[in-house]
Amino acid sequence: TTAVVLFTCDLRLHDHPPLRAALRAHDTVVPLFVRDEGVAAAGFAAPNRAAFLADCLADLDAGLRRRGGRLVVRSGRVADVVCAVAAETGAAEVHMAADHSGYAQRREDLLRTALAGERRALRVHDAVGTVVPPGAIAPRGAAHYAVFGAYHRRWTAERVRGPLTAPRAVPVPDGVRSEEPPSRQGVAGVSPGLTRGGETEGRRRLAAWLGGPLDAYADQQDDLAADGTSRLSPYLHFGAVSATEAVHRARARGGPGADAFVRQLCWRDFHRQLLAARPSAAHDDYRTRHDRWRTGPGAEADAEAWKAGRTGYPVVDATMRQLAREGWAHNRGRLIAASFLTKTLYVDWRVGARHFLELLADGDIPNNQLNWQWVAGTGTDSRPNRVLNPVAQGRRYDPDGVYVRRWVPELARVGGPSVHEPWKPSVRAQAPAYPPPIVDLPQALSRFRTARGLT
Ligand code: FAD
Repeated sequence: TTAVVLFTCDLRLHDHPPLRAALRAHDTVVPLFVRDEGVAAAGFAAPNRAAFLADCLADLDAGLRRRGGRLVVRSGRVADVVCAVAAETGAAEVHMAADHSGYAQRREDLLRTALAGERRALRVHDAVGTVVPPGAIAPRGAAHYAVFGAYHRRWTAERVRGPLTAPRAVPVPDGVRSEEPPSRQGVAGVSPGLTRGGETEGRRRLAAWLGGPLDAYADQQDDLAADGTSRLSPYLHFGAVSATEAVHRARARGGPGADAFVRQLCWRDFHRQLLAARPSAAHDDYRTRHDRWRTGPGAEADAEAWKAGRTGYPVVDATMRQLAREGWAHNRGRLIAASFLTKTLYVDWRVGARHFLELLADGDIPNNQLNWQWVAGTGTDSRPNRVLNPVAQGRRYDPDGVYVRRWVPELARVGGPSVHEPWKPSVRAQAPAYPPPIVDLPQALSRFRTARGLT
């Protein structure tokens, strides 16, 4: 017998419950990836993610070939393509990972109905993309957790299944037609510093991370210049690295760095369970604040300066330029840049979220939209009106200005922490090409406080 294994955001062979289950129950499997027309139509196939995805697919295909199989790639609507492949190969079942986004839920419903019409079964496996699946834990009387601290305590107590090894052999039936997998070279507009995708690269990075830098993570997590985070986010987004395996291996190593790292992975599950329960939070305020965000030419010009990394606030500009250059930015930088857009410039979080999704290789609806909402104060932050001061943040998290000088060449000749205040006459003289600030911070703060009714 044969089964189809549908890969979506789980592009790996290690710790892959659907593949293992299909191999246990059947003689052959068809590892299938569908280039989903719906994803492209929704504008979600931004160049950096398309390139990273191409790397992941090439690596998955190579891994399958080493095991006697190969990846089958087809384009179209998921339900149509899967039904066609199942019919061609006589597959009795289709195995796939659960995904709880609104889009994925609709895709799954359509697929289940289409397969049922042909008397084929859909087997959906939980805890593939998350450590603790959405809905598995909930506070009494509520469908989901809205407070991270409480979720983290409960999540930490949950038993986590052990990670699975990769299968030794993956027998694939002969003669199944496949398109040429997409290649990174075929994607235009990719950030020059985008990292290579794929399970092999992801596992190499995970091992290197766990073997040393992890231990310093608790101290260095927010240090912009140290760049001391795992940079695993795009691999986790595409499932090239399993979050469950990362948690197990970090816990096995132990220590404050491991605890802090596992806590960040818990944020990932937190946002997924929240979005599963409230899909509208992908575009609507989770907690409506009746905000009247700025609109019109002034707000648009401010947003454009922010996107271009030309706000005149060095740590904001450094982050935005890193984002454009690498398709990734440091979490502390993301927080500062997002606070600047939504609170200092008072521009709608959706404008920023859209721009991030155009560039981030890890661009992910639950993590991106809900982090944006958290910063904007429309989400789950218990202090929704805190405003990050970009100068104070720069001095604190980039005390010597190393991060700013790395990304903003106009400031490269300014030594030490004075780089965070380039409008001071002595600094200005060394950085004549750097733009002046687009906004006055005290005025912006009072605009924010008035808009939020805090005065
Ligand atoms: P590490 O510090 O090594 O953390 C390990 C992993 O934990 C990350 O890879 C990620 O999967 C998870 N994680 C860490 N922080 C968070 C967080 N705050 N929320 C959820 N998961 C987290 N992360 C995304 O994966 N995709 C996004 O689209 C995204 N958009 C963001 C937008 C804004 C405005 C902000 C403030 C944060 C956003 N984040 C997003 C969260 C975080 O910035 C990135 O996950 C992190 O910077 C990735 O780098 P890393 O892998 O080195 O993280």
